[in-house]
Amino acid sequence: MGRVDGDTMHIIGAGLAGCEAAWQASKRGIKVILHEMRPLRMSPAHVTEHFAELVCSNSFRSDDDKTAIGLLHDEMRKLDSLIMRCADKHRVPAGSALAVDRVEFAKEVEHTILSLPNVTVIRGEVTSIPEDDLVIIATGPLTSDALSRFIKEVVGGQEYLAFFDAIAPIIYYDSIDFSIAWKQSRYNKGDGDDYINLPMTREQYYQFVQALIIGEKGDFKEWEKNTPYFDGCLPIEVMAERGVETLRYGPMKPVGLTNPNCSEKPYAVVQLRRDNKEGSLYNMVGFQTKLKYGAQKEILSSIPGLHNAEFARFGGMHRNTFIASPVLLDSHLRLRTDHRIRFAGQITGVEGYVESAAIGLLAGVFAVHDLGLGESGIEGGESIDDTRDSDRLIPPRESAIGSLLHHITEGAEKHSFQPMNINFGLFPALTGRHIDRKAVYSSRAKIAMDSWLHRFI
Ligand SMILES: Cc1cc2nc3c(=O)[nH]c(=O)nc-3n(C[C@H](O)[C@H](O)[C@H](O)COP(=O)(O)OP(=O)(O)OC[C@H]3O[C@@H](n4cnc5c(N)ncnc54)[C@H](O)[C@@H]3O)c2cc1C
Repeated sequence: MGRVDGDTMHIIGAGLAGCEAAWQASKRGIKVILHEMRPLRMSPAHVTEHFAELVCSNSFRSDDDKTAIGLLHDEMRKLDSLIMRCADKHRVPAGSALAVDRVEFAKEVEHTILSLPNVTVIRGEVTSIPEDDLVIIATGPLTSDALSRFIKEVVGGQEYLAFFDAIAPIIYYDSIDFSIAWKQSRYNKGDGDDYINLPMTREQYYQFVQALIIGEKGDFKEWEKNTPYFDGCLPIEVMAERGVETLRYGPMKPVGLTNPNCSEKPYAVVQLRRDNKEGSLYNMVGFQTKLKYGAQKEILSSIPGLHNAEFARFGGMHRNTFIASPVLLDSHLRLRTDHRIRFAGQITGVEGYVESAAIGLLAGVFAVHDLGLGESGIEGGESIDDTRDSDRLIPPRESAIGSLLHHITEGAEKHSFQPMNINFGLFPALTGRHIDRKAVYSSRAKIAMDSWLHRFI
């Protein structure tokens, strides 16, 4: 990758995030050099040479702006997202979901990018980045091995770069039944009440283990089977298959806990741990799973205290390259230790086509701002006025895109960070009782977004 002049930047990866970033930067007058390794080197999941290939489903999920993802669609349209523009143009009937003709969609994105006068495309695998240029790394969940090795060095070691996700289901706090659940850390460690506990009798436990064993599971793809994560991080259903008592000696051990709601000692306990600073989301500790979503809902809702649980996201385990964004990135998606390097897309720990594009959109705009100001180097290098000016670019916390950015850069718990879809648990909590909470989240976000929009141009 060669050196470039002052108003040029490199974007690595012409996926959903990279294309969106290139579009946003280029239409603001910045010269972009966009690097894409396909078709010279293919990822294990991509099958075409087109930019913005959708590797699995052709759905961008619900387009209803009373859902968190639909709201994100709406905001991205207002921010002139290329990905949304092309998705709308090549929409296919799918009820309230936004689904697209994947081939026409990808061709449209590619054609638009190739016709931009200030974007140069270089096909070929990038394995390192130059020392002085501004770069956005948007190489996605299947970043090539050579670049992954380079990123590992840049971010400070293996601890900060994961090659797979092991997502435990995440539950909305206010859907947990506290007439059954109670708060307590094992042996009252930490603050004493860091965890939420869900007790099971012997009979309930055995039924639960049986349900896990017979529950419908998703398969690991052929190229995922060699990913070396099984020993440290077994799916719960695999633990259940290894022996009926295995979970009771693992994540469901009932020791160091006293149930204030019942004198009978629990035979097993499921623990939930806070997943964001707001305390609106809790993850099921050690419950990573390959069960299908329907089976997860049915089996996990049978756990005492979770009968009416609402899931912000279900569990999963996939090959997925992502960095420890809450530790590494500042609010402008730059490495705290080197402001020239910015990350965008799924590699930042968001999950999903639209979320990846949304972070690409922000990365493109933030990078333009940096080029306008000149590079200031490491954190703290900016003048106070520069910082105030750039803070105006951060979308409001009440918006979907602002909540997503906040989650990966600040809001998520650092030690348990795993990729996350947009959901209302990432938004600032509502005060008071509301009959239709989703409608209130949505209208609050729209008001905040509309009053902020003019700063973004
Ligand atoms: C198998 C799989 C299935 C998925 N299914 C869905 C789904 O159904 N729905 C959903 O919403 N999300 C899904 N996702 C998650 C995610 O939304 C998509 O992966 C999405 O494409 C991420 O966007 P991105 O721009 O971050 O990465 P990508 O779209 O993957 O783009 C990254 C680009 O970088 C290129 N690249 C990688 N390394 C290099 C390199 N060293 N040099 C140059 N170029 C490089 C790649 O070829 C690719 O074009 C899936 C992910 C995977 C892995």
